Amino acid sequence: MSDRDWEVVIGMEVHVQPRTRSKMFCGCAIAELNAAPNTHVCEICLGMPGVLPVPNKAAIEACLKTALALNCEIPRHTKFDRKNYMYPDLPKGYQISQYDLPMSLNGYLVVGARTVRIRRVHLEEDTGKLIHAGDKLHKAWESYVDLNRAGVPLMEIVSEPDLRSADEARDYAMELQTLLRTLGASNADMEKGQLRAEPNISIRRAGSEELGVKTELKNINSFRALHRAILYEVERQTQVLESGGSVVQETRGWSESEQRTFSQRSKEFADDYRYFPEPDIPPLELDRAWIEELRAALPELPGARRGRLVTQYALSSSDAARIVADRSLADLFEEAAAAGAPAKQTANWIVGEIAPTGKLPSGKNLAELVRLVGDGSITRDQGREVLMESVETGRTPAEIVAEHGYAQLSDVSELRVLAEAVIDSNPKAAADFRAGRKQAMQALMADLRKRAPQANPKIANELLLKLLG
Ligand SMILES: [Zn+2]
Repeated sequence: MSDRDWEVVIGMEVHVQPRTRSKMFCGCAIAELNAAPNTHVCEICLGMPGVLPVPNKAAIEACLKTALALNCEIPRHTKFDRKNYMYPDLPKGYQISQYDLPMSLNGYLVVGARTVRIRRVHLEEDTGKLIHAGDKLHKAWESYVDLNRAGVPLMEIVSEPDLRSADEARDYAMELQTLLRTLGASNADMEKGQLRAEPNISIRRAGSEELGVKTELKNINSFRALHRAILYEVERQTQVLESGGSVVQETRGWSESEQRTFSQRSKEFADDYRYFPEPDIPPLELDRAWIEELRAALPELPGARRGRLVTQYALSSSDAARIVADRSLADLFEEAAAAGAPAKQTANWIVGEIAPTGKLPSGKNLAELVRLVGDGSITRDQGREVLMESVETGRTPAEIVAEHGYAQLSDVSELRVLAEAVIDSNPKAAADFRAGRKQAMQALMADLRKRAPQANPKIANELLLKLLG
């Protein structure tokens, strides 16, 4: 394969489930993933004749906030349309979506060094889910349909084909996730299907302006799968073109177990769907005052916050990125810093200890913990235990330290007595060390820790070296 000769062109459609209590056009509650099938349905989302859908204001608000954060224009008028197709998980025989007058247009999102143009963000409804059961051997297949998900709101965020690699596509999806969570517009949990990425991929000769034939990958549900699927698809298309073939425009799936893409169906075109305006929902006129209220209420967005953490607290850009990726971590960092904790050490605790567990102390307690470790009152290992206990019980680190007698033993005369006792009780290790076998120190330190777990390891080590040398 000759990578340098080909340019990769990727656009992304991302489906996001906005954070709402109820479905897009009816009052049914959003079902938990483990809910019994068909328990969150009504006449409207089952597509019974004669019922009237009513748009969900919370979903519209989440969509508008997202669009504003993505620098989109919000047109005065918008409407819903019917997208007609036949599938067993679609009880109405059509999906209510938006066609030519979407809720927003023409935005952009900066991802690293790339500005990715956003074509549109619109609202639609999700389909149901098919469940296949049976066994191959006896050819006894049965299919069931669960309509709990039918009618759940979805935002579709469509980018222009501005991404140029699998890395960029993954970073774009991650940045969207951070943005959506910062806005509170969606939990954007990929494992729960709340954020599904559909990249369309083509390649072209480097220097060419013309777009190649693209394939679209459906419903990718992890960042890792997104990255791998794109790498695979680029390699596949390169081989097809370099062996003289042509890429077929189609929809492809990603097999996690086989780590490859596979053909699903040839691509439909808009004509195939016979879009027409949804007759049961009047066109919406979006109130300008409301739009401006939403715009004014937008929180500080991730890109701006990363920049500010770097300049205001002198954090490294990687620490700032890691912390801002989760709004609750970023808030925790700033609360602790406001309570007087030194920025660098606080960032270390958040990135190294708190982010991996996902268990957050209060900002004030974190500041206290960082101070106790920083001034040598407790060791870092003890700090970890204190942190866990503080998170579980809500008590302050100082209270926990006082109760456990965690206070570190740093008194030199006390430590000298200890070190002498250790050397006396381990004559062989002491002799080995004096004979030049440095690793014998480990045994001596281990014995010292056993006698006094709270001993300051740095001072104890220095004393042992002095006494032995
Ligand atoms: Zn319903």
